[in-house]
Amino acid sequence: MRSIIRAKSLGIVLSIRPGGWSLLLLVGAAMGLGGCAGIKWNKDFTPKNKYYIGRSVSAQVLNQYKVYEDPQATRYVNLLGQTLAKFSDVPEPYKGYHFIILDSPEVNAFAAPGSFIFVSRGMLRICATEDELAAVLAHEIGHIQHEHGVKVIRKSRNWAGLVKIGKFIAQATTDSEIAELADKFGDDIGNAVGTMLRKGYGRSAEKEADSAGIEIMHRTGYDTNAVITMLKKMEKRVKPGSTGFGSTHPSPSVRIDAIKSLIKSPPAKANAARQARFDKALMAARQ
Ligand SMILES: [Zn+2]
Repeated sequence: MRSIIRAKSLGIVLSIRPGGWSLLLLVGAAMGLGGCAGIKWNKDFTPKNKYYIGRSVSAQVLNQYKVYEDPQATRYVNLLGQTLAKFSDVPEPYKGYHFIILDSPEVNAFAAPGSFIFVSRGMLRICATEDELAAVLAHEIGHIQHEHGVKVIRKSRNWAGLVKIGKFIAQATTDSEIAELADKFGDDIGNAVGTMLRKGYGRSAEKEADSAGIEIMHRTGYDTNAVITMLKKMEKRVKPGSTGFGSTHPSPSVRIDAIKSLIKSPPAKANAARQARFDKALMAARQ
């Protein structure tokens, strides 16, 4: 009984319908048990495991941030994100990609395992064009493509426990079964979430995500120069040591130096139709 009550208190229902799909994000759950160096994650950690663990990570993220409830903005961010994801190296993960706007002034975006991508209103405010928002989302898709979130969790000494929990959760069929697992293992995943939110994925992972993001933008037809304009804006707005991108990513100037050779075409001309849909969809969200 206790576990069910707790699950309800953690329960989050997200309903996002870009093009008719919906996501029910239910409850945080997690890991425990002892570590085991012998786990081979490619073999033991299936796409379904990753999805359920990512859902648990996401539920914990949503214990710390509020979802921004704006159907127009959510639909737009999802359509843009899904379009970019189709041109990534991981176009169809288990249950697809989920893009969620956080009602936070912090300049932030991050990717959790299971293809959950979060972007804050603070970040949306910095983006002035669809191409710049595409740069942010493509970078996060790059983290998913390289499985950076999964790798952070893999380093956890409770990795073996998490693999087991992923399997249990995937097999749980009722809310009360999931709630019971959440109650048993609900605390430990916080360590992995804390790493993701406070420390980020590290310099080499960020470089990989930047490179992947530029490639995804290029394939999709967005102006890759938007990556540089976004990083320059962040240089001005995000102070070292601040929360959000300031604490989880290398300094923008370091990132620009690392990637500028990848951007080969000159800046594209302004696209009026693209700008109009960006302004309309995000008008309220960017206020
Ligand atoms: Zn990143």
